[in-house]
Amino acid sequence: MHFPVNGDYIDIHVHDGTPVSGNFILETLMAHERKVPLDIPGVAYTYGIHPWFLKENNYKNLLLSVERFVSHPDIIAIGEAGFDRLKGPSPEIQRIVFEKQIVIAEEFRKPVVIHCVRAWEELLAVHKKLKPKMPWLIHGFRGNAELADQLLSKGMFLSFWFEFILREESGDLLRHLPLDRIFLETDGADIDIRSVYNKVAADRNISVDELKSIILKNFNKWLIG
Ligand SMILES: [Zn+2]
Repeated sequence: MHFPVNGDYIDIHVHDGTPVSGNFILETLMAHERKVPLDIPGVAYTYGIHPWFLKENNYKNLLLSVERFVSHPDIIAIGEAGFDRLKGPSPEIQRIVFEKQIVIAEEFRKPVVIHCVRAWEELLAVHKKLKPKMPWLIHGFRGNAELADQLLSKGMFLSFWFEFILREESGDLLRHLPLDRIFLETDGADIDIRSVYNKVAADRNISVDELKSIILKNFNKWLIG
């Protein structure tokens, strides 16, 4: 089991990442990929069913995989899981499979990484219904301050879409948000997480070292729930 240490750049959402000294990555394993966690320094895993790859005839098997892997020591979170109104099967199937993953996350006390595209009502309805104790992290966030506030009020953490964060205009939102609820990510794209940290530190007028230590604290809080 590996955890980030002081001074690491935490990249909270990665696909097919390569471990780099000084970085800590949360690598995403999607159940349909049939990959297994590997014991690598600087890498922890989240495991779940991505809504894009969900089908009516495969979700029961995929849920069995989630149940099988959830107690693996290198899998520290469930996800990415959630809703996508533009891709994937019917909202009803998406809801059933998402709710099941939340129940598993609660039972095993794992936090959750959320993928949500244009389905915030559905997401908030599940939160209201299941009242999870383990915190949710919205990955790839690119919404406005009003939506951010609504999600934060439910105890969620936000990790931003890197393209959005690197744009000049994201500064206003970044200055508005509480730093103790944010994460940064590359989503496995070909960019350096360090440039994302540099942009946010500049927007908030703090040093990169301060930002790193804030995000490390967020990580530990998110994990414990
Ligand atoms: Zn992803």
